[in-house]
Amino acid sequence: MAEIWIKEAERLGDGSIGGAMDSPSAPPRAVWHTTESGAGDAAFNAVASYLIRVQSEPHILYDPMTDRLGQYGPLNASARALRNDGSTRTNRTGRVCIQIEVLAKAGKPFTAYWRPGPNFRALMRALRSWGIPDAWPAGALASSYSDDVSRSRITWATKGGHYGHCHVPGNDHWDPGAIDVRALLTAGGDNSIPSTGGETKATPEPSVSRATTTIGGLVYGYGAHGDHVTAVGRALVEKGHGAAYRVGPGPTWSDADTVNYAGWQRSLGFTGSDADGVPGETSLRHLMGTLPGAQPVVDLSNLISAARRDPGLRQGGTTHPTDVAVVEAALRAEGLLSSRYAADGSFGSLTKTAYAAWQRRCGYSGSGADGIPGRASLERLGATHGFTVKA
Ligand SMILES: [Zn+2]
Repeated sequence: MAEIWIKEAERLGDGSIGGAMDSPSAPPRAVWHTTESGAGDAAFNAVASYLIRVQSEPHILYDPMTDRLGQYGPLNASARALRNDGSTRTNRTGRVCIQIEVLAKAGKPFTAYWRPGPNFRALMRALRSWGIPDAWPAGALASSYSDDVSRSRITWATKGGHYGHCHVPGNDHWDPGAIDVRALLTAGGDNSIPSTGGETKATPEPSVSRATTTIGGLVYGYGAHGDHVTAVGRALVEKGHGAAYRVGPGPTWSDADTVNYAGWQRSLGFTGSDADGVPGETSLRHLMGTLPGAQPVVDLSNLISAARRDPGLRQGGTTHPTDVAVVEAALRAEGLLSSRYAADGSFGSLTKTAYAAWQRRCGYSGSGADGIPGRASLERLGATHGFTVKA
């Protein structure tokens, strides 16, 4: 069951901080912050009321020294510790966007000295109950007062998992600092074994995997939620792999879905961990006939105007960062654009050079390979990299 209020947490404030998510079909995520304060009860109390006063409440306030856990608002609604990215309300991205403020400083990574306890495990249990995968899709955290991190809009829009505030597009903070991301997940307990209240397992039983995976921007596996989960369940039933359902397929991925899916994988000849019931691209494509997932649509005229924009016009003008970022990610995947500039959403000279290289690869030359996208080359890029073109 997805947890809305963590029973181990004390309530902070009046319990109402945000509202409904803007993109509930996007994968679930958590965002880690540091309060840039000390720890201990006095700091906890002061910061708790300060965040209310400035209306920047996260969902969770956590003390890494005392394991004290507070919660401001329900996990299935938005918090307000992030800045918007233009018109994108980053606080409201995803099935959930659970924000955690840790009483620590980014310059002194808290995982080096913290003392996580049962409340931290309760927090991680709650995050996982929403299907947030044990992954850091934006990569490395900022390691000092530096800006050398990915704030990719595409990653943010399409990937579930754990983010630092430093990874969120439209934001310029670098918290939570260079915390040890593995230590963080490990301190949360084993993801694959549901909590049994401290019982020790006498004999290992065949356990059902509770891992999750993201394919085509959609999350599959235990706890995943959405119409795409129901669709997979229906397809399994149709193919004769519905035996584990007691009440039929539904929108939240359960152990029954995993057991049925494992049967489907075995029927395709997969064995071992390839038949653990957590979908892979091949088995999913076979089951659904196509790979589900929202393909981004790139508007060709937006792209052309972004590419032709006077580089002097830094302010104003039309830049269409969303369209540009999709194309940049594809150029990066082709090895034509360095990851440093990929997905910055600006069709600058490096992007233009990269696109011209793509055009030459498509057989164009001269003015046909000037780096200004054309329909045919763009459609060809999209066919390989999962976007469609609106001309
Ligand atoms: Zn922050």
